[in-house]
Amino acid sequence: MERIMKTFEELGLQDNLLRAIAELGYENPMPVQEEVIPYLLGEDNDVVALAQTGTGKTAAFGLPILQKINTKKLYPQALVLSPTRELCLQIADDLKDYAKYMDGLSVLAVYGGSSIETQIRGLRRGVHVIVATPGRLLDLMNRGVADLSAVKNVILDEADEMLNMGFSESIDAILEAVPENRNTLLFSATMPDEIAKIA
Ligand code: AMP
Repeated sequence: MERIMKTFEELGLQDNLLRAIAELGYENPMPVQEEVIPYLLGEDNDVVALAQTGTGKTAAFGLPILQKINTKKLYPQALVLSPTRELCLQIADDLKDYAKYMDGLSVLAVYGGSSIETQIRGLRRGVHVIVATPGRLLDLMNRGVADLSAVKNVILDEADEMLNMGFSESIDAILEAVPENRNTLLFSATMPDEIAKIA
């Protein structure tokens, strides 16, 4: 039987995001987007999703978390954790593309191996979305410049990879600092015990 495809509009995305993704050439949602977008647009959901890269997962979590941000309030409302600098930059770039028509929306990538002073200045200017490697974010939290007390959505991207890299304790400490009534969405190519525990 043929799969009946939904449109991005039917998934509940707002006009300014629809316009941005149309310009990027996205015509129809990919399967992971069809599942995750309506779910994250709802209230207080914990989601566990399994997905390999190349499946469209960045838009799957990125579009709904952007839609839920109140741009008038300049503090972190969404957090994306990812294992490497390259991934952080790529995710942040994608989010900025999606947010092209969201006035004043600010996304900042913070990661190790790069000037922490520049990242501190960026955080002090105010951001809505932080895309971070766990170790650097924890460092910034300990310096009192990354306030996660109003974060509503947390995305753990490539969670299995982050555990392999030894970020388990940092992730625990970060999740402790985020309000308990957050939504957490976890992407992992595999589901070892430790991931199941976080989930
Ligand atoms: P990702 O899995 O997030 O790395 O995405 C894989 C690639 O698919 C990226 O180049 C995206 O820009 C692209 N992409 C994501 N969603 C769609 C869509 N609905 N239609 C066409 N391309 C897409």
